[in-house]
Amino acid sequence: MNCILCNETDSVFDEYKFNVESDVEFFGNLKINYCRKCDLGYASPMPNTDKLNYFYKHIYRAKGRPDEIKSNYNSDIYYFRNLSYLNYLSTFINLDNIKNIFDFGSGVGDLGFLIKSKFQNISLSSLELDQNCKRILNSRKYKVYDDFNSISEKFDLIISSLTLQQLSDLNIFNSLKKISHKDTYVFIDVPNNNFDKKFFNRPYDSPRLIFFTKKSVEKISNIFNFNIINLSYASYSIDKAYKYSKQSKNSFSNWKKDNINFKQKIKSLIKIFLPSIFLKFLTFIREEKNKEENIDNFVLQKENSWTLRSIFKWK
Ligand SMILES: [Zn+2]
Repeated sequence: MNCILCNETDSVFDEYKFNVESDVEFFGNLKINYCRKCDLGYASPMPNTDKLNYFYKHIYRAKGRPDEIKSNYNSDIYYFRNLSYLNYLSTFINLDNIKNIFDFGSGVGDLGFLIKSKFQNISLSSLELDQNCKRILNSRKYKVYDDFNSISEKFDLIISSLTLQQLSDLNIFNSLKKISHKDTYVFIDVPNNNFDKKFFNRPYDSPRLIFFTKKSVEKISNIFNFNIINLSYASYSIDKAYKYSKQSKNSFSNWKKDNINFKQKIKSLIKIFLPSIFLKFLTFIREEKNKEENIDNFVLQKENSWTLRSIFKWK
């Protein structure tokens, strides 16, 4: 397979690793190719768009999977992260001038929802395929689109957080341009990658299909014609991200459709026998620990940070 950015032939960097092992039955055996010229990695062979859409609509957030949206979903645990996004956006954009926001692959739409709580005249739209997320988005007054063809609006601000790396190609930049006007701001953040020895220590790749670096984002800005206003590293270290990934892998690698895994069965049994006050106490302890860890999450600006974020405008 040729590079998804420059179309030149390049070489296999490593085997692709799944978080949920049974996903290999859906996607097949993949490799990661790396283009030295673009400093960009990508899954090969790349799953086609129909297959990916099916995955995000029916499998990605299914019951018992890592990205399931639980019925008691509470955005508080992501408060610090979303606040840091809001701070970042306000540094470069006067949000008083923003009338509408489009969130691509919004999930439950926490960031837009937070922005709207401070700037109430903003209207929110998104493109999201998962039914559970759609239900929450509707309750948060989002207008939810299924595809780009049905969008005739132009937006003042487009946001897309931790989504672009899950796509099968970079055409998204053309799609976003179509729903922009000349003053539209675009904010993206994607996982950061260092193609060095450490890369081989990552516990898994899925659902990541494109592996960005700072250099690759700069190259994309040239090809898709946008001016980068800011491009910086954010969040905790890649090492810490691997630590969290390892925990996720321990919990979810054995997930199978219609078969809740052994650990989850034990968990639900424990819930039956433990008094709820004790469970509440455990949740409290966990959340306090998360809060502490969150403090350093989004103030670091180091090259080994696990995300890259950027604000840009079209040329
Ligand atoms: Zn390339």
